[in-house]
Amino acid sequence: MSKIKKVAFELKEYEFPEPFKITGAIHTKAENIEITVELESGTKGMGEASYSYRVNGEMIASLLAMENNVNDMIKGVDVKDYRKIFDIIDGFSRTAPSVKAGVQFAVLDALSAEIGVPVYQILGGSTNRIKTDKTVGIDELENMVEKAKKYYYTEGYETLKIKVGLDLKEDIKKMIAISEATKGASYIVDANQGYSPKEAIQFADATYRNGVNIVVFEQPTMWNDLDGLRLIRQNSPFPIAADESAKSKYDAYELIKEGCVDFINIKLMKSGISDALAIVELAKITNTKLMIGCMSESSVGINQSVHFAAGTGAFTYHDLDSHILMEEDEFRGKFKQSGQEITL
Ligand SMILES: [Mg+2]
Repeated sequence: MSKIKKVAFELKEYEFPEPFKITGAIHTKAENIEITVELESGTKGMGEASYSYRVNGEMIASLLAMENNVNDMIKGVDVKDYRKIFDIIDGFSRTAPSVKAGVQFAVLDALSAEIGVPVYQILGGSTNRIKTDKTVGIDELENMVEKAKKYYYTEGYETLKIKVGLDLKEDIKKMIAISEATKGASYIVDANQGYSPKEAIQFADATYRNGVNIVVFEQPTMWNDLDGLRLIRQNSPFPIAADESAKSKYDAYELIKEGCVDFINIKLMKSGISDALAIVELAKITNTKLMIGCMSESSVGINQSVHFAAGTGAFTYHDLDSHILMEEDEFRGKFKQSGQEITL
């Protein structure tokens, strides 16, 4: 009865009330694919693919066209044998990792409904409580400072993620101003590949000398410049994280082996559940730290990362805020949230 009867894809659109600007992109809306896995028993599981052309090279039309193929590949397989399903669709890692993530989670969600055990407990049940940060996109200095103050003082987010990478001198000014306006906060600074290695080292040096409490310096330089990333790591007082550089478990292995990172930013939309699980183990073996991030997931997609993060208990920082930056008619996560506090 727990065999898969049907997999359905549905396109959903969400607006960002304020354009969300990062180096290399401005997001005004998200186009996500909602993935429903229906079992012979009638039980359903739900996942979401929030695709990325910039990071994964994915295009929405080709992802939507995969619906029949996915049905052909996993129809009739029992969700209790979920590893078998993970392996069947592992080839999507290179072509459609967000679909891989959404299908893999929907399978776990269906299993969860079938056996009455929440997904985070199927994944290990390490904790039932995590804290997320909130992100300040690229904007004029005054607006970024105002947003940081609002998120820190009014909304209570202790860790703020700050987007930089377009203009080194401006970025240094902005970080110092934000730091002075939100004393006591921690910052995850994300350059989204915007700096040269030299610029990244200058940024780290200037902010460090001004006492800015940067806890993670994320993807300062181009995804394929591993030598550059290593050079920055060796010359930065702040821990360096790979995001765009670290998509699959193989990328993570390479980055760690080559001494390029202190942190890996796992996103299910880059790795799916299966590679994300492998990276968690790799990080444990090598004493590498982890953070978990998101693309433009709604509450359905953020739910996936919340359950993954709580289940594995593997993450020092959680950057799971896309759902609160977009407009959504109805909250559909299987978790509770009050500001930064997320509970299951
Ligand atoms: Mg990033």
